[in-house]
Amino acid sequence: MVLAAFSLLAVEGVVEFPFGKHVLYAIQDAPSRMSRDLFRVEGGKFKYNKPFADSSCNVFLVKTKNGRYVLFDTGNGGKRGTLLKKLEEMEVPLFQIQEIFITHIHPDHVGGLLDERGIPLFPKALIYINQKEIDACTASINKMNKTWTLISQAYGRRIMPFNYTDRVGRDNVIANVGAGHTPGHTVFQWGNLLLAGDFLHAAAVQLAKPEICTDYDWKFGAAVKTRRQVLQQAVDENLVIAGCHLPMPGVITVTSNGKDGYVGKYYEAESKILSPNPDEEN
Ligand SMILES: [Zn+2]
Ligand SMILES: [Zn+2]
Repeated sequence: MVLAAFSLLAVEGVVEFPFGKHVLYAIQDAPSRMSRDLFRVEGGKFKYNKPFADSSCNVFLVKTKNGRYVLFDTGNGGKRGTLLKKLEEMEVPLFQIQEIFITHIHPDHVGGLLDERGIPLFPKALIYINQKEIDACTASINKMNKTWTLISQAYGRRIMPFNYTDRVGRDNVIANVGAGHTPGHTVFQWGNLLLAGDFLHAAAVQLAKPEICTDYDWKFGAAVKTRRQVLQQAVDENLVIAGCHLPMPGVITVTSNGKDGYVGKYYEAESKILSPNPDEEN
């Protein structure tokens, strides 16, 4: 008999990390790279010396010690996204995903919530979204308004709005302030793991120079502030960062580079315990 745990390990584009007694899965929804034409600084363009920077489009899944599944973002959906295929290969039934935390309402993060007919793909999940993000989409006249309308109609009362600094969901995940990339962009903190969404898009550029933004950022000043805040918090509190656009496996630790920037290193489970309750388990 093949144990489910072994089949989980075999899925290409999925990397598994012990997370205390839970398991964290980094799942690549789609490959991605950032054209240098997208980089910006306040008031102008930033000239990167290479045509592209490595990126990725990732979602993160936690299987708790009790067998509950908690998903962070849902990827692109449609033809570009591979999350559904990967969940199937991992033998994770969609109805068993009970909670979905959304970092922000951009198509590469919420596209996987609905199928092509607008039907919810997660029939039992509660969908946690920042009230500020909901308000901004509701007030906008661009396509995010339409995206949000479809999601809110499809999931109805299963949408669970929260505010910054709230503790959210069954595991009391903290909703840290992360505005800047979008008005209600949220960085979730679960033990010593930060699920940091789009706090950056191109690690090769923005770790060393957090002041660099991309065309996708809503307010450059606030996006830079959030990026620095996430990176400095990770240094000060010895946290691990999972990023939606960090090259796979999308999970890093960071140190200061001594020059107002940071150096990232892929997280290695052997070198540090990743835990939802670090105080209890160490
Ligand atoms: Zn985004
Ligand atoms: Zn994104």
